[in-house]
Amino acid sequence: MKLRLILGDQLSLSTSSLSDLSQDDLILMCEVRQEATYVKHHKKKIAFVFSAMRHFAEDLRRRGFNLRYVVYDDPENSGSLLGEVRAALDLHPCEEVVVTNPGEHRLLAEMQSWADELPVPVVLRDDDRFLCSTEDFAQWADGRKQLRMEYFYREMRRKYSVLMDAGGPIGGQWNYDAENRKPPAGGLDVPETYKSDPDAITQEVLALVEAHFPDHFGDLLPFHFAVTRDQALAALDEFIARRLRLFGDYQDAMIQGEPWMYHSHIALYMNCGLLHPLECIERAEAAYHRGDAPLNAVEGFIRQILGWREYVRGIYWLKMPDYKGANALNAERALPEFYWSGDTQMNCMRQCITETKQNAYAHHIQRLMVLGNFALLAGLHPDEVNEWYLLVYADAYEWVELPNVSGMILFADGGLLASKPYAASGSYINKMSDYCGSCRYKHTVKNGPTACPFNYLYWDFVARNDGKLRGNPRMGFMYKSLDRMSGEKRQAIRADSQRFFKAMQANEKV
Ligand SMILES: Cc1cc2nc3c(=O)[nH]c(=O)nc-3n(C[C@H](O)[C@H](O)[C@H](O)COP(=O)(O)OP(=O)(O)OC[C@H]3O[C@@H](n4cnc5c(N)ncnc54)[C@H](O)[C@@H]3O)c2cc1C
Ligand code: SF4
Repeated sequence: MKLRLILGDQLSLSTSSLSDLSQDDLILMCEVRQEATYVKHHKKKIAFVFSAMRHFAEDLRRRGFNLRYVVYDDPENSGSLLGEVRAALDLHPCEEVVVTNPGEHRLLAEMQSWADELPVPVVLRDDDRFLCSTEDFAQWADGRKQLRMEYFYREMRRKYSVLMDAGGPIGGQWNYDAENRKPPAGGLDVPETYKSDPDAITQEVLALVEAHFPDHFGDLLPFHFAVTRDQALAALDEFIARRLRLFGDYQDAMIQGEPWMYHSHIALYMNCGLLHPLECIERAEAAYHRGDAPLNAVEGFIRQILGWREYVRGIYWLKMPDYKGANALNAERALPEFYWSGDTQMNCMRQCITETKQNAYAHHIQRLMVLGNFALLAGLHPDEVNEWYLLVYADAYEWVELPNVSGMILFADGGLLASKPYAASGSYINKMSDYCGSCRYKHTVKNGPTACPFNYLYWDFVARNDGKLRGNPRMGFMYKSLDRMSGEKRQAIRADSQRFFKAMQANEKV
């Protein structure tokens, strides 16, 4: 008899810890304080994970497996995974504990020490729900000067024969981004995102979250996430039928009051195991072959999953634990209070934070080019920014959050993941959104109290990091522009930035 521990992000029957499951074994699932509170996760995120866990447990019971499920408010709940494994072994003697590797270095290190704490061996198995193993990624990375996602992605396309035609990419190109990234158009009829009504299990979880996590970030209600595999599949199919067609065109567009746009909203389901990445890719590819969605949309969507998702996971496991402490630009400023309250006069930030609070979701460009861009320009400390991103999004787990934050938005890894910082001024946000029209600041004004803060903060960032970024070949143009600026102009940028930072740190409404 084996004890098989299933974590909250391992909710698939194909998880490696269940691969040789027999009817005698005991499956252990537990809602523990240690995992729910080590950062103050968004209320919706906790509700989603607990409800999906309870539904998965129901499914296992229906299939006749032995299950021990410890709910959060069980008075006997020890509050830690190790405590619950110990309690289960006390009641049900087992010959070994089997676990699929967790998605976080901290927990993996902890589990690797369990063998010293428990009376039976602990077997940690690879998480094979990904399309590139950590070993294969390390092999791909070995000896390369640069670890660029695009080359990794091409190999993955070949390996899985996705969108391929006679050994080459369908359509003759690997990447159709040149056709994507249209600015938002007026009169778009953006379809609603998938919504399921909370059943009795979810209602119970919602009451529990309300009672036990009142001081956590975010709105608990309304709650409409899928919490079963069938519902997650329905959400995927709805995306493919209603939004995939325009995914590429409006991938980077932001419209006030449209938090979901043409994105898929499935990261949270893939990351907890309800959906397998390959089935998402296959269904999108099938839509292309049926003629239901154009190549630019399908290729763009598939690249996010087969390319970016696997690539950031590879980087995480390749570079941890050092990656977590990376701060190449020596960013030291504290995260301003408005990241929690949304109380700022910068309309773009207010919109993205408010939607994050409401939905535990913001789409990629909001995370990257508004919230992340500000964090980069303002020089916010990577630890504080990472903590924020890890707790506010329902899809956030460290293996995917950390490389996106430290690598993609903050350039804290010194350019391992991104070839240049994703820094942009107000004119980019104005081009890709309709936020600026209702902002107190003017995106066309470069300096002074009415100027868009992204404008002067952008140049302050470039000037501040001269010693670190001037040598970057993709930043050459920026430094030429900076060098052409008059002393007076540079002084105005510095003074505006200082004034802004002073007000921000004093918690004045900026
Ligand atoms: C600062 C920052 C933090 C992020 N934190 C997370 C996170 O904690 N968890 C997370 O899953 N994604 C994260 N991402 C990546 C991406 O923004 C989200 O995956 C995406 O917004 C989720 O929404 P969606 O399912 O509608 O994705 P879509 O836009 O529909 O994309 C399809 C899928 O592609 C994958 N994907 C797309 N971009 C990335 C990427 N850069 N890295 C990894 N996978 C990607 C996701 O699985 C996503 O579901 C982050 C991005 C940034 C810039
Ligand atoms: S003007 Fe600047 S601060 Fe205001 S919404 Fe536009 S980019 Fe954001």
